[in-house]
Parts: sequence; structure tokens; C-alpha cells
Amino acid sequence: MDLSHRTILITGATDGIGKVLAVEFSKLGSNIILLGRDASKLDTVYDQLDHSFKSQKHLILQADLSLLNNESAHEIHNAIAEEFISLDGIIHNAAILGTMTTLEDYELSRWDEVLNVNLRAPFLLTKTLKTILETSMLPRIIFTSSGVANMGRAFWGAYSVSKFGLKGLAEIFANELETTSSIKVFNFDPGATQTKMRASARPAENPNTLKTPSDLVNCYLWFFSEESSDSKQHYFEYADLSKKVTAT
Ligand code: NDP
Repeated sequence: MDLSHRTILITGATDGIGKVLAVEFSKLGSNIILLGRDASKLDTVYDQLDHSFKSQKHLILQADLSLLNNESAHEIHNAIAEEFISLDGIIHNAAILGTMTTLEDYELSRWDEVLNVNLRAPFLLTKTLKTILETSMLPRIIFTSSGVANMGRAFWGAYSVSKFGLKGLAEIFANELETTSSIKVFNFDPGATQTKMRASARPAENPNTLKTPSDLVNCYLWFFSEESSDSKQHYFEYADLSKKVTAT
């Protein structure tokens, strides 16, 4: 798949799934906008990106999404608009797990942080970047879901609530944009994947029994394909989408 001349913003690009997507998408020619909170991790990922395609360029945006507000979201917009003619996609990947505890014991400040990173930031970034996305020929927004977005489970607290909320946010954006915009909105549950977050959530699990972030790349690529333009389905789980992309 040729992604040259496509510019894709990946939030939480310094680790886990986001980092692998950044590296793999860059190998296919895309310009990558790396958004993360840690400057040295951003530099490390930047150095791993492919820079060999003609006119390919990448951008680092250092931002703590727990603190995102109108002003910093507009700064992100302006930084992208200064460097690129258009924005072709946002992968809203950044998230934090928060605390695994009962709702009764959940610290309010931690609750707010999780909701800010996992739900409020994707809302504000999408809203602020919508106009620049609409300059793309094939614009995409991909939200990242989870198994606990559909069923409340003890101890998953703010993380689960944020993913329930994100599902609603994705559905509302999809519904609002399908008749007024060329932007396609998807919400993808990657399923259990070998990352730092998964290890924190399930410390007793053997990570070698899980798929790796690299196994997800073809699913994410499908969202950027012309084929997905005709999809009436917005919500996907790894198990179904991986079969679909293998079959095509
Ligand atoms: P990781 O914890 O490995 O990576 C999360 C990324 O988000 C890191 O780059 C992290 O930065 C970044 N991030 C966290 N907080 C902020 C912040 N305040 N501002 C900016 N960036 C931030 O998680 P995964 O790769 O496992 O998860 C990626 C997505 O997939 C998440 O949305 C998660 O909910 C979802 N998911 C993951 C599953 C799994 O099994 N791994 C299963 C289902 C869904 P830093 O490097 O600084 O920590």
C-alpha cells in the first residue's frame, strides 16, 4: 500500500501500538505527526521513522493530552497547517489505564486525568482539526476502543467509562459527518495486545501468549484504504477485521 503524500497524526506515538504504527506507516511513505508527552521518547521514535521517500517529512508535537485546552489544541492545528498541505488521518491512540480499583475508592484527580486523556482530548482534537482534515482526498479518524467499552466490569473504573464515552463520541461524529463531510470515522478495538498498558492491567499474564502491535498494522492500514470508504460499519473488533483484511 502506497501511503506517500498522506499525512497521519498518531497520538500516543511513543510506545506500544502507536509507536509501531508510526514506524510501519512511515515505511509505506506517509508523513507522520508524532504526538506524545515525553520529549526524549518522541526523539527516539522520530529517529526510527523511515525518511527515504521523496518529499517525506515527519513532525514531533510534544503535548500532554491530560492538559489539552482550546489554546493548545489550536497550537497543534497551526503547527500542522504550517508544515503540511493537508491532514489525511488522526489515529486517536493515546490512553492511560488509570487505577484498577473500585469506584468507591477511585481518586477524583486520577478519574479526571483518565477522562481527560482518553475522552476529552480526542473530542477536542477532532473538533479542532476537522477543517484541516477536510482538505484531504481520503480523510480518516480512527478512535481506539476496548473490550470494556461495551460491558462494565469491576475495577476498570475511569478507563472503562472513558471507552464507553469514546464509543458514543465516535458514533456521534460518524453520524454528523456522514452527510456533511468526506471524513470517515472508525472506532477500533485492537483486543489484547502485548504492550506496557496490557502488562499493567494483567500483571499475571504471560505476554508471549498475546499478539504484538505489529499484528495490528494491516487492520489500521485497511482504515486508510479506498475500500473502507464504502463501509457502513464504524465499529470494528480485531478478531473480525483481521479476518476481513486477510481475505481481501
Ligand atoms: P501504551 O501504554 O503502551 O501506550 C500508550 C501511549 O499513549 C504512550 O505513547 C503514552 O505515552 C501515550 N500517552 C499516555 N498518556 C498521555 C498523555 N497524557 N499525553 C500524551 N500521550 C500520552 O498503550 P497501548 O499501546 O497498549 O494502547 C494504545 C491504545 O490501544 C489505547 O487507546 C488503549 O486503550 C487501546 N487498547 C489496548 C489494548 C492492549 O491490550 N494493549 C487492548 C484494547 C485497547 P508515554 O510513552 O509517555 O507513556
